[in-house]
Amino acid sequence: MLSVKDIVDEERINQLLAQTLNSSEEKINSILSKAEKKEGLTLEEVAYLLNIENPAMIEKMFETAGKIKKEIYGERLVFFAPLYLSSYCVNDCEYCGFHTRNTAPRKKLTLEEVAEQVKILENMGHKRLLLEFGEHPKKNPIDYVTDVIKTIYATKSKNGEIRRVNINIAATTVDDYKKINEAGIGTYQLFQETYHRDTYEKMHSGPKEDYERQLFAHDRAMEAGIDDVGVGVLYGLYDYKFDTLALVSHSQYLDRKYNVGPHTISVPRFQPAETVKIDSKYEINEKQLLKVIAILRMAVPYTGMIISTRESPETRAKAFEIGISQTSAASRTTPGGYGKDGKLKQFSLQDHRTVEEVLESILDQGLIPSYCTACYRLNRTGETIMEILKAGEIHNLCRPNAILTFKEYLEDYASQRIKEKGQKIIEKYLNKIPKEETKKETILRLKRIENGERDLYF
Ligand code: SAM
Ligand code: SF4
Repeated sequence: MLSVKDIVDEERINQLLAQTLNSSEEKINSILSKAEKKEGLTLEEVAYLLNIENPAMIEKMFETAGKIKKEIYGERLVFFAPLYLSSYCVNDCEYCGFHTRNTAPRKKLTLEEVAEQVKILENMGHKRLLLEFGEHPKKNPIDYVTDVIKTIYATKSKNGEIRRVNINIAATTVDDYKKINEAGIGTYQLFQETYHRDTYEKMHSGPKEDYERQLFAHDRAMEAGIDDVGVGVLYGLYDYKFDTLALVSHSQYLDRKYNVGPHTISVPRFQPAETVKIDSKYEINEKQLLKVIAILRMAVPYTGMIISTRESPETRAKAFEIGISQTSAASRTTPGGYGKDGKLKQFSLQDHRTVEEVLESILDQGLIPSYCTACYRLNRTGETIMEILKAGEIHNLCRPNAILTFKEYLEDYASQRIKEKGQKIIEKYLNKIPKEETKKETILRLKRIENGERDLYF
């Protein structure tokens, strides 16, 4: 039997937050030392860290989180692009521009339009997409979703192809999850928005108002055979400390139950949207968001973390250092928004740079963009990938794969300027592949890419 309390015990969360308000420097130092062992943190320890307001201690947290990020994920930053398919939605979520009270005309892409958008994204160098749909059983039935997935995999443009499709659709049934799993998705993402039941119920109207339908959706997805699930909170709806603790509790629950925690955690923050007005009482600022990212990195060190273009270039740059492992660039939040200006946006964004501009700033930070999709295609998902991560093998797999996929980007899409900067980064990290044999093989494969071969991975 599924029980809400196993995932989120409100009373306990409130108690933990209240009893960890005052901490000594020693206490915090001991939690940070434990975090460095990369074994995760208890809910009580997370509560202590959430309650820290002292800037010097927060800086210390950033250092520890940054160290963990570097050891586990190295210098890689995986890129994806969101693709909006349909703004039709039957829900009236308070915070979202697609809610029913917005009477602006809606748009749903035809399969031809899907192919057009995909070609544009492929020509920007993307290999990985995150699909976004409003919830509408009539306009966006599950067969439309699977047709879209098939169309995307079948759409190629010169050397461009989409190799991994992740998906963010409303909570649904085991049967529907089975259908999208069969169509070949990577991660299924669904955000609880807020774990605080009263607030959740007030914020939603329509099928999404069912708190338990949302909360147990990842269990149903796992039951349907989807190995990789993503969780998240929409920051700004309720107290960020409560929601972060609940998010960690949910991750630990999945780990206990399925031997593998969520594949990713997303940290979206509320952004203004047409016809939307929410109470600013729970607004969280950039510093607080960064604190949350650092804490999550320490609490669940092996879970990928995603930041979107909702955040400013400065916040994103810091977030990459202290915990984020995946990001998007030059995103559009409207169906049909790539290549032309779409009308109804789900919400507005703070990072308006082009892909090249984002890549350049990442290279200047000493990071390497990765377009790798190898694990999913080699069935290294769920528990298998976590074992590889924990054994520290990642630098013999992910580092060469990042180098090879970024090399493809440089060959096919980059300007001369990015090519030069990118080549330097490739050389730097090539020398840091631990196994000599793998390094030699990577050098050979780099040559093969220069000679026109594509999609080489370990
Ligand atoms: N309709 C599905 C759902 O609600 O689960 C699919 C995903 S929806 C297109 C993607 C996510 O966007 C939501 O889960 C929510 O967290 C986020 N979102 C909605 N309105 C937002 C806003 N104003 N600012 C930032 N993120 C928002
Ligand atoms: Fe619809 Fe999702 Fe927006 Fe809610 S968040 S109104 S379910 S698109």
